[in-house]
Amino acid sequence: MPPVRAPLEPDEATLNAWTELAARFVAEQLQKVAELPADNTAGAREVAAGFREPLPEQGTALDTLLARLSPAVEHTFNTPGPGYMAFIPGGGLPSSALGTYVAASVNRYVGVAKAAPALAELEATTVRWLAESMGLPATAGGILTTGGSLSNLTAIVCARVAHLGDDFARAVIYASRETHASLMKAARIAGFRRDQLRLLPVDAHCRLQPAVLRQAVDEDRRAGRVPFFLNVNAGTTNTGAVDPMRELAAVARAERLWLHADAAYGGFFRWVDPAHVDGLELADSITLDPHKGLFLPYGTGSLLVRDAATLRRAHEIDADYLRDVAPDGDQTNFTDLSPELSRAFRGLSLWLPLMLHGAAAFREALAEKLTLARHAAERLSEIPAFEVLEPPQLSVVAFRLRGGSDSDNARLLARVNQRGRVFLSSTRVDDRLTLRICVLCFRTHQDRVDEAVDALMQEATAG
Ligand SMILES: *Cc1c(COP(=O)(O)O)cnc(C)c1O
Repeated sequence: MPPVRAPLEPDEATLNAWTELAARFVAEQLQKVAELPADNTAGAREVAAGFREPLPEQGTALDTLLARLSPAVEHTFNTPGPGYMAFIPGGGLPSSALGTYVAASVNRYVGVAKAAPALAELEATTVRWLAESMGLPATAGGILTTGGSLSNLTAIVCARVAHLGDDFARAVIYASRETHASLMKAARIAGFRRDQLRLLPVDAHCRLQPAVLRQAVDEDRRAGRVPFFLNVNAGTTNTGAVDPMRELAAVARAERLWLHADAAYGGFFRWVDPAHVDGLELADSITLDPHKGLFLPYGTGSLLVRDAATLRRAHEIDADYLRDVAPDGDQTNFTDLSPELSRAFRGLSLWLPLMLHGAAAFREALAEKLTLARHAAERLSEIPAFEVLEPPQLSVVAFRLRGGSDSDNARLLARVNQRGRVFLSSTRVDDRLTLRICVLCFRTHQDRVDEAVDALMQEATAG
């Protein structure tokens, strides 16, 4: 093959040709997501092996490279597809991907406001929309992160600086046992020992009860420790359980705990009705994951903080080489609010879909997910082979084979997933293997949810 001449700076015709090839590739891939097996990882290791290769000295044509990429994309969990109801789906809005493409292509720097005042304003506006829609006051601020894990980490660091300063050896963090592991990871990275974390038991609905919290705080105070941080869950990953945030907030206020709400999965259901995550607006900080609840492609999370100044105090630092870009007036430098300096212009991947579709489109899609989860739960509870743990609090249905062992449930899950039309995952609730259907992808509609229930029913009776 002749060497490919792909200039680092393509002329307009070349750029258009590349963009067209990429657009055609994307369109072909998106056409396939409805029909590809929901778990298509059979044979994926062989495909993966083909990518272990040395750095080439010469270029290769783009169409050749995209053709190589196809099997790598396709031999995967089909996460953007309608049948993907495992873990927490989202789907990946094409409109947001377009925002990412435009943002990366124009490659303006938004970490300091002076470098791109209007783009920084655009991103700050998306954060303000999020904060307002969660019921936070005008003093609130926040940042777009790479995801919920980094949001939870930033929340702990922010709270630590605000409440404890440099001495946090006796501080205690409270959360329920149903809390996402990223919070434990965050505590560890933020310098807390394992024994500074209380993972409290939950009630029959997987919720943390105020009395349990109060007792744990009392015990720690009597032992001379310093209770300081409470995580409440606005939708657990396991079952979508929503802690009684209003009551827990009252305890947090009385005990002067920083109240953090992990709403990575559930927060956006507030757009349908605030009652779905009642009391979320009382939190000192809120983790949201637009790459879950707003269906964005992976890579956009958010941390909102009731008092934006606390976020700044935890991150602001002087650097001589940044003296020329100190913010003016009401400008905010994102770098003063987060661990990042150079970063992607994430605002556009959120702003573009919100502007293009409007909030109503998201509200309708989220309402549909809640309805679909209830529908699945109702159908499953009519099938004698299954027990549904409870009507879904949000859009996760947790269920088991009635009287089935852990291995019976695991086998059933494997058989249903083997069919390829839907992909479900399992967890442990009450120390028993529990199956779950999480409806959150914007491409998932009733036909596919019914297929999931049909497959479960058929495999349960066949097994
Ligand atoms: C997904 C999730 C996280 C972690 O978020 P990432 O975006 O995956 O880093 C944290 N908390 C909850 C409740 C989640 O569902």
